[in-house]
Amino acid sequence: MLDAPRAPGVRHRVTLGKLRDLVREWDRHNDDEAFPAARMKSLHEAGYLSAFADLRDAAQVDDLFQVLRLIGGADLSLGRVFEGHVNAIQLIHAYGSRQQKVALAAELFQGCRFGVWNTDLAGGTWLEPIDRGWILRGSKRFATGAGHIERVLISAALADGAKQLVLVDVAGQPERADNRGWRVRGMRGSQSGLFDFDGMEIAVGALLGAPGDYEREPRFSAGAWRFAAVQLGAVESLLRHWRVHLLASGKAQDPVQRARFGQSVAATRSAASWVSRAARAAEATEPEAVPLVLMTRGVVEDAAFGVMEGAARAVGTAAFFEGSRIDRITRDLSLYLRQPVPDQARDRAAAAWLEADCWGEDAWW
Ligand SMILES: Cc1cc2nc3c(=O)[nH]c(=O)nc-3n(C[C@H](O)[C@H](O)[C@H](O)COP(=O)(O)OP(=O)(O)OC[C@H]3O[C@@H](n4cnc5c(N)ncnc54)[C@H](O)[C@@H]3O)c2cc1C
Repeated sequence: MLDAPRAPGVRHRVTLGKLRDLVREWDRHNDDEAFPAARMKSLHEAGYLSAFADLRDAAQVDDLFQVLRLIGGADLSLGRVFEGHVNAIQLIHAYGSRQQKVALAAELFQGCRFGVWNTDLAGGTWLEPIDRGWILRGSKRFATGAGHIERVLISAALADGAKQLVLVDVAGQPERADNRGWRVRGMRGSQSGLFDFDGMEIAVGALLGAPGDYEREPRFSAGAWRFAAVQLGAVESLLRHWRVHLLASGKAQDPVQRARFGQSVAATRSAASWVSRAARAAEATEPEAVPLVLMTRGVVEDAAFGVMEGAARAVGTAAFFEGSRIDRITRDLSLYLRQPVPDQARDRAAAAWLEADCWGEDAWW
């Protein structure tokens, strides 16, 4: 596969120091629940928006893991927007034409924000052929960044029902976005409302890859390690706030409080180990990648449930007041954990483990 030419200034290794500085700064101003435009701009200026279109080695996979985790720990809505951006640019890098990759490099250089919108409003989204190309029909829901981001990859059905990826320029079309219904307990800043594509003309060159590419495995299921990493960052952040409370309040002397905290430390550290293993397996397309990632989703979810409940029990009612970081992270995380078909993910993982140990290092038989 041809490599996309690099626009000047596009970097492929990042340092985490700059991001840690940004996170410290964001921590001081964390009561805003609007779309995180300024934070995305900071990530662009520091090179993080363009750094992960292609992951060349295990070190770069680990960089992305750390970046997703740090951003998730700071601001889950920003984490969702950033994760969607990375998903989109990796899909363009994997399936795009040379021309699409050249355009991607130039647009990343300018700071364009990308997303992937797959979830349909009832009725679906589809392509109708016309002389000059295509007309899009239908709308997307859960469209993270609707009205804020510039480019989206959407899935749209062809006449035979196959799903085709289409790269759409949605910049400057705020009238098609509708976030009025995005009245949710958490993740408000992700602005994941509706976007109406009906009647939009699409040039032939906007179709990306072949029909079916979006759901091609192992990328489709294994790519979920990225949102697990974002969620993990929030779980770790909650655990840190919980610890600070125990120390500051003197409750750390209480063995019941300590036991509950210790249990969640173990669950969170274990989840981190699963996400790290899943990330490497996914990006190296190891045979166990899909079951590993599916199992990891459940491990992170369980750690999150334990930490959210434990922090609330330790802190008490103060954790439910506006302005409490524990309240905000819990509201955001409760919703962000609702990713597609969680029961099915756990079931597929368990079924794979019944066949063989999918951890991949020390099979138990
Ligand atoms: C903040 C946020 C941002 C998002 N951004 C985007 C985005 O940018 N692009 C995008 O495409 N999507 C996005 N989504 C959508 C997301 O990827 C999921 O599709 C969505 O969260 C799943 O919604 P759900 O829980 O209602 O449905 P489901 O995944 O259907 O799950 C609901 C429950 O039903 C169960 N279930 C589902 N089907 C079956 C079945 N057949 N049999 C038995 N049980 C079943 C599930 O296991 C689960 O328990 C976003 C979601 C959120 C919360």
